[in-house]
Amino acid sequence: MRILILGPQGSGKGTQAKRLAASHGIAHVSTGDILRAAVAEGTELGRRVAPILERGDLVPDELMIDLIRERLEHEDGFVLDGFPRTLAQAEALDSMLASIGKPLDVVLLLQVSDEVSSERLLGRALEEGRSDDTPEVIANRLRLYHELTQPVIARYREAGALIEIDGERSIDEVEAEIERALAGTRER
Ligand code: ADP
Repeated sequence: MRILILGPQGSGKGTQAKRLAASHGIAHVSTGDILRAAVAEGTELGRRVAPILERGDLVPDELMIDLIRERLEHEDGFVLDGFPRTLAQAEALDSMLASIGKPLDVVLLLQVSDEVSSERLLGRALEEGRSDDTPEVIANRLRLYHELTQPVIARYREAGALIEIDGERSIDEVEAEIERALAGTRER
């Protein structure tokens, strides 16, 4: 199964993606995790993206598209988390998957308000100490989400491919709703 999960920062996207990957035996492909690992390992990619992550800006599309192409090429089942974040990335993803005959089976959107999103991110900042979870950087990430990633959501919504999930409930409740939605798509 090939799943795309969309949603703002703090929507619980990463948590749900991990659970989906485990319960369906598919890969969790998180661009945030991939980039942070590269920074931690001090690879060439890591050195290049470190200052970008630090500011909460977006890594250039070409770089992200190449990275995802390499990562998804040999993967039959996956849950993709953190990509696409711009229309250019969405177009590249759709054509890349079409060309290898592996289109997405389902696109999920975890909905949460900006208030809940900011609250959760600030909470995570205290717990995990992620250096991009300061108030200024969070504001920048949310701004970019509205400006560049909302159009990606509109694109999948217009294509009739989007399943919207209320992300403001407990982790277990959200997971149960996602599983029900996936079961529904398989029956169609
Ligand atoms: P969040 O969704 O909370 O912002 P992520 O872990 O998904 O966190 O991403 C962390 C950072 O990695 C982003 O702020 C951005 O700098 C970079 N990044 C991740 N995915 C992408 C992408 N698809 N395009 C550009 N930059 C990305």
